[in-house]
Amino acid sequence: MTTPPAIVILGVGALATARRVQSAVLSTCPGASVHGLQGRVADADVDVAFTELASHLRALYASGTPIVALCAAGIVIRCIAPLLANKGSEPPVLAVAEDGSAVVPLLGGLSGVNAMAREIAAALDVPPAITTSGELRFGACVLNPPDGYALASIDQGKRFVSDLLAGEATRIEGDAPWLDDVQLLRADDARRAIRVTPLAWSGATDELVIHPRSVVVAIGDVRDVRDEGLHERILEAARERGLAAQALAVLLAPAARIGDAALQQAADALQIPLRFADDDASSDPARLLGNTLRMPHKILGDGNRAPIAFAIAHAPVDPATVGRARGKLSVIGLGPGDASLMVPAARAALAQATDILGYETYVKMAGPFRADQRVHGTDNREEMQRARHAFELASAGRHVAMVSSGDPGVFAMAAAVLEALDESRDPAWAAVELEIVPGVSAALATAAQAGAPLGHDFCMLSLSDNLKPWSVIETRLRHAAEADLVMAFYNPISRARPWQLDKALEIVRDFRGPQTIVVLGRDIGRPGAALKTTTLAGLKSADVDMRTMVIIGSSMTRAFRPADRSREWIYTPRWYKSADFNV
Ligand code: SAH
Repeated sequence: MTTPPAIVILGVGALATARRVQSAVLSTCPGASVHGLQGRVADADVDVAFTELASHLRALYASGTPIVALCAAGIVIRCIAPLLANKGSEPPVLAVAEDGSAVVPLLGGLSGVNAMAREIAAALDVPPAITTSGELRFGACVLNPPDGYALASIDQGKRFVSDLLAGEATRIEGDAPWLDDVQLLRADDARRAIRVTPLAWSGATDELVIHPRSVVVAIGDVRDVRDEGLHERILEAARERGLAAQALAVLLAPAARIGDAALQQAADALQIPLRFADDDASSDPARLLGNTLRMPHKILGDGNRAPIAFAIAHAPVDPATVGRARGKLSVIGLGPGDASLMVPAARAALAQATDILGYETYVKMAGPFRADQRVHGTDNREEMQRARHAFELASAGRHVAMVSSGDPGVFAMAAAVLEALDESRDPAWAAVELEIVPGVSAALATAAQAGAPLGHDFCMLSLSDNLKPWSVIETRLRHAAEADLVMAFYNPISRARPWQLDKALEIVRDFRGPQTIVVLGRDIGRPGAALKTTTLAGLKSADVDMRTMVIIGSSMTRAFRPADRSREWIYTPRWYKSADFNV
């Protein structure tokens, strides 16, 4: 799946053009989102808000996200210049004039930047500023075959294209429908040939070899395929049959081997998806292929029961049509709200997910999603039910992202998911690939806004007595207060739990002085964020609601203003003076 592009704007003046670009690319790149600079564009007007342009562009580029920046080309170039080493794997990068009057493809000639530029320029009704000579001459990039095809060798490809530019004619062997629109000088008796084949390139310099990803490789249930070096065994078997590694589309294995780390390693090393067949013919990969593949194909095998077999289809194979996926459940934390505080691994899990599950508010925060992603938002607070639903989807082969705010392991879904798995006897649940991706928890986000109140020992407590008796909370509060720990209160108060916070503060006041510093963070990282500092004496439960994080300082926590008096900082020093320890 290609990564949806980010359309980046620096001011509200570019918003209208950005939306036109977005709708122009949505048909080919579902999920394209508009990213706006915070402070210059209202968060609500864009899909993703960011705080600093250069680091945002670099993060997008590094994650392979296509970039359409509505600003000067020079700004974009300077921002990502430090990353421009590897020409082979760069995403498309374009600069578009804020008023839509110019579309300039900058980088990503081999990943379709010119095609994107043409598409956007057509929508904006201006000519694209294409500078690639092959592209200008032929009307498309010969070295950028569509999805499902791969070039045998980039270097050879470049030499071949310069020959064509010098006026050489070519013939085309094999099925290359996309070349029909390309203005190549063709001749049936040309010395040069573009050859579309799953067979390995012979090294001949007068041909450009493009491999369709049309080969499915299957592994049997046979243990004689030793696990280490499995990917080398597959490459060797492919070589023996004359097949190119780039023609491999999918690795297929019997469902009985789900969870086998060696198989996943082999698929990763081959850079192809691993799929499974629910089939009894598992010890014979040739039969496994025959029983599983639904498209016309030819099987290559050395007779019966070879441990590795290949099937060649007539056209590129869409991996999604072969058997089923293992199924994956990513339990992720979105951070407090601001997109820049979501860790890249969580963003990647969201992009890969087929199904997104979670409490409605958080699911909205995690969007927007592509049309092919299923969103199961719920206002159901029954967390165990949600966790079981996630396993049911994942064990059927879906890739599920379960979203929590902050960190998923802090008073959130990760523990519920593990509890559901712990209670289950279902081997299909056990076979699901489970990953937990951490996030920036509300206490950490609030602390960072205030300074460093968690700079020394601290604890996190939920004041909710929904899942534990109030007496336990009281005991913990007493001990934490007595131990002079800084305390971060989650779920401090709600309409259903109106008196608990006052009771908690009463306990804390038995151990901590009235001047103890208290930090209140409300909706941190979200629109309308508010940070407030007060003291234990000044703290009133009316200042707190269920969207607030309460941090109670220790006896050492202090506030100061730097020399210019510009703002107040709160911190808890890393050291401890026992004289100050007045418990
Ligand atoms: N998993 C979340 C916490 C869920 S409990 C995390 O790691 O942050 C919900 C409580 O977290 C809320 O009652 C509130 O106390 C706190 N909280 C969550 N998001 C917050 C935010 N953006 N600003 C302030 N407090 C927040």
